[in-house]
Amino acid sequence: GPPPDCPPDKDQLGRSTWTFLHATAAYYPDQPTSTHRKRMLGILFALPVLFPCSWCAMHFGEEIQRSPPDVSNRENLSRWLCQQHNIVNERLGKPLFDCSIKSLDERWKDGPSDGRCD
Ligand code: FAD
Repeated sequence: GPPPDCPPDKDQLGRSTWTFLHATAAYYPDQPTSTHRKRMLGILFALPVLFPCSWCAMHFGEEIQRSPPDVSNRENLSRWLCQQHNIVNERLGKPLFDCSIKSLDERWKDGPSDGRCD
């Protein structure tokens, strides 16, 4: 049969985690209940403690202190997360992402208007 899968490296783990976070933010409510807010803060504040790349975890912990997560609604959370991801992109010399809600929804929720992802 096929060779067994390898454990995730830092990049794979990062890609999967950003995918989960951006997609979850894209579907976060416009009017979150206190439970939604609390659980989202739980996810975000768990990362500096548990994320299995200790450099990444430490950096994210510092950034989250500097700029606390905005869990007030879908748009604000999506934008905050985009800005956090851009801070990492900048540090790694990767291109910055356009943090307008239109670009974020196209990438993480609706897909492009040409319908190729439908
Ligand atoms: P990724 O950066 O993983 O992005 C995946 C996709 O998200 C992109 O293809 C793009 O379509 C989209 N995207 C890109 N930017 C944004 C944005 N701003 N908003 C919304 N969508 C966007 N790696 C390190 O080497 N050092 C670190 O300190 C480090 N810290 C990290 C901290 C956290 C919390 C996480 C989750 C990951 C961290 N990583 C770190 C991993 C790093 O961010 C990348 O995931 C990894 O380098 C793989 O990059 P990639 O080019 O595949 O795209």
